[in-house]
Amino acid sequence: MIRVTIYNEYRHEKSEESVRNVYPNGIHNAIADFLRADDIEVKTVTLDDPDCGITDELLDNTDVLLWWGHIAHHEVPDSVVAKVRDAVLKGMGMLFLHSGHHSKPFKALMGTTCNLSWREDGAYERVWVIDPSHPITQGIDKFIYLEHEEMYGEPFGIPEPEKLLFIGAYESGEVFRSGCLYQRGNGKIFYFQPGHETYPTYYNKDVQTVIRNAVRYLVPSYREKELICPWVPRIDGK
Ligand code: ZN
Repeated sequence: MIRVTIYNEYRHEKSEESVRNVYPNGIHNAIADFLRADDIEVKTVTLDDPDCGITDELLDNTDVLLWWGHIAHHEVPDSVVAKVRDAVLKGMGMLFLHSGHHSKPFKALMGTTCNLSWREDGAYERVWVIDPSHPITQGIDKFIYLEHEEMYGEPFGIPEPEKLLFIGAYESGEVFRSGCLYQRGNGKIFYFQPGHETYPTYYNKDVQTVIRNAVRYLVPSYREKELICPWVPRIDGK
């Protein structure tokens, strides 16, 4: 069983009708609905839960954590950010979605500004597959077409991706590194750009396929129990 937890800030849906119309039960439930499968169990947590709903026990029992946040990144307590970072270093997989590029956990794991250029004009985007052989791009043709998406443009203030899987290209001509893979400690991290809150991006079948593939790919193959720097005896007993 793959154990997935979805964190959603869940503020836009409560305060803006335009977002509530697209995601009446919240972005987290829209994602949970297509992710749940015979071998995938999904929990959801939100910013307004105590400590964002993120406890040590939850992280120990999460294989892959998804993160969607935007206007209230600063309200996520630093103690929660440290827990999430350590869980990734131990081996938990993590998928950052859209405006999660500016979340505290993403910045803590990247160590850079993670700034980008943006414009909300609702023009189309094509998300081009760069590596058609990678497990995360399976089932996607040459590109994903999104009729409306927020423009995220370069330069994107991230470390050089260890593997670049998608490049977004917009009607207006800008391009963006839309699918970036990293490893930090024992944990695999994927950043995936589509998913602005006023557009129905998470109902797009290709976007759902990528997220499903990513969850399976990010499952830990090894988890360290404690992050320590131990003294050890010689292996020959001398
Ligand atoms: Zn957005």
